[in-house]
Amino acid sequence: MRLPGSVIVGYGGYFLLADWTLHELSLTENVLQIIEDAAQHQKFSRVKIVWLEIGLLACVRQESLRFYFDVITQDTIAHQAQLKVIEVAGLGWCEQCTCEVPLTTRYDPCTRCGQYGLKIIRGEEMRVKELEVT
Ligand SMILES: [Zn+2]
Repeated sequence: MRLPGSVIVGYGGYFLLADWTLHELSLTENVLQIIEDAAQHQKFSRVKIVWLEIGLLACVRQESLRFYFDVITQDTIAHQAQLKVIEVAGLGWCEQCTCEVPLTTRYDPCTRCGQYGLKIIRGEEMRVKELEVT
C-alpha cells in the first residue's frame, strides 16, 4: 500500500508508512523503532553504523535528521552510531514516451517530451538499508 505524499520507511521486509510532511523528528523516531525491532529479532545489542537510503524527492533535511538522530539515540542501542546516507535519485515514468526519465523534483516535466504529471517511481522513499552491529 502506498499513499500519495508519503515516505516508506523500512528495514528488510518490514515497512511502515509515515506522512512525509511530518517533521524529521518523527522520521528519526521511526528509524530508531526499526532498529530496536531489528535488534530484538536478530539479537544484537549495539549498532555501529546505520545506512539510510533517502530518496531525493522525499524532502528530508539531512542535517535535521542527523541532529535528531544523535539526540534520540542517547541511552539506546544506537548511541553514538554513525549515520550514513545513501541518496537515491528521483525517477519518473512518462506515459507519453513510455519510458523512465530522471527527476530532480517531484514536479519536473518529462525531459524528452515536456509532459507534466509524471508518475514517480523512485526517489520518494526513505529506508533503513543496512545496520552494522556488534
Ligand atoms: Zn515524455
